[in-house]
Amino acid sequence: MFKHVFGPVPSRRLGISLGVDLVLPKSCNMNCIFCECGATKKLTLKRERFKDPEEVKEEIKEVLKKIKPDYITFSGSGEPTLSKDIGEIILDKRAHRCKSLCDN
Ligand code: SF4
Repeated sequence: MFKHVFGPVPSRRLGISLGVDLVLPKSCNMNCIFCECGATKKLTLKRERFKDPEEVKEEIKEVLKKIKPDYITFSGSGEPTLSKDIGEIILDKRAHRCKSLCDN
């Protein structure tokens, strides 16, 4: 069971997409009415370390031993670019020859 990685999910646009959640619920600078994560109780623009990046990278590495997704999609509990570690994690995934995509 993984804590930060979910899926993979089939996507007509992306093919096979592996989800990675870099933030804690619900960390976002928006409060979209249609958000599947529910209402944003505290809007924020503050970038933070929400999760241990080494733990996230290790989890992704474990999953990539079993599957080869077309994309890694940063999504999940809020706005992924609020994570201070997103750049480092994307660069690590490039080493695995995966395309990365930010989505929220
Ligand atoms: S996570 Fe996405 S959909 Fe939800 S409030 Fe933030 S921007 Fe809107």
